[in-house]
Amino acid sequence: MTDITAPKNGNLLEVKNLKMHFPIRKGFLRRVVGHVRAVDGVSFTVKEGETLSLVGESGCGKTTTGRCILRAYEPTAGRILYHNRAGAVVDLAQLEGYALKPYRREIRMIFQDPYSSLNPRMNVLDIVGESLRVNERLSGEALEDRVASLLRQVGLRPEYMRRYPHAFSGGERQRIGIARALALHPRLVVCDEGVSALDVSVRAQILNLLQDLQHEFNLTYIFIAHDLSVVEYISDRVAVMYVGKLVELADTEELYRNPKHPYTEALLSAVPKPDPRLNTMEEGIVLEGDVADPSNPPSGCYFHPRCRYAQEICRHEEPALSDRHGTGHFVACHFADQLQLNSILDIGQN
Ligand code: SF4
Repeated sequence: MTDITAPKNGNLLEVKNLKMHFPIRKGFLRRVVGHVRAVDGVSFTVKEGETLSLVGESGCGKTTTGRCILRAYEPTAGRILYHNRAGAVVDLAQLEGYALKPYRREIRMIFQDPYSSLNPRMNVLDIVGESLRVNERLSGEALEDRVASLLRQVGLRPEYMRRYPHAFSGGERQRIGIARALALHPRLVVCDEGVSALDVSVRAQILNLLQDLQHEFNLTYIFIAHDLSVVEYISDRVAVMYVGKLVELADTEELYRNPKHPYTEALLSAVPKPDPRLNTMEEGIVLEGDVADPSNPPSGCYFHPRCRYAQEICRHEEPALSDRHGTGHFVACHFADQLQLNSILDIGQN
């Protein structure tokens, strides 16, 4: 029997040249005087069942990319091709209002802060059951049964469903957020810094839970994080963003062991080593200056004011993102083939 839910090319999502520019308005008449190019021509694919991580410092556009995919924002340009359950391809960027409704069920979000993302006036039954009430018109015992089942799936005791968020720890609250995201059987989950606010030991538990749920329900994740220490364990591929653009994208092992972009090298240098004798804090690459202003980015390579390998060409010619060797390792750097960058294995051992 043919499985019509299986995308023909294995891709669940294809993001093509996505742009999200926010207007800057000034003066009495609120004239547009410029644009913040939060996302500026980003392209990538996500295969069904895989985890793609988007990584970069604050302001690099990773969260905005996630919100465009969720259609919390209407993109300025580009395509967000989604292979739906019926086997058809829809461009989420073109859909409006009611036409988006089925996809809001299939694409869900887990939020960064488990403390502020749950309404303190709602108990767990209401938080997790809200979307079931609205979308599946469940109520009474049927609703309680579904919520109880969801709570069990995320490792919480169903008898706590009438408690309020303040009665739970940070890790438990994040589990409630995951149960809420799973309620409508999503296919794609955007996890926006979903474990960043948690202690390291709790973080590991939540990552394990997310992996278990992925295998059980064939979920696809887009995992958004500000550093590379969190995502190595959970990602199949990692995309590094800088000032609204992708600068490197590769399989996780390849990116960590053979980085090709100086920005990735700097992010890797900040990853703590499990062996405390390797004192990475002293060996880490300190990036000078702040992330470039997306409303007034530098000429040429946006990273050149902070790049320790920058040369004259970097100041006036923008490097294109390309997969030079056809291995699926994309990089945007003029000197990607010449630079010998430190990998996760080298940094801290020099
Ligand atoms: Fe550095 Fe130049 Fe490569 Fe940009 S293109 S990352 S400035 S070496």
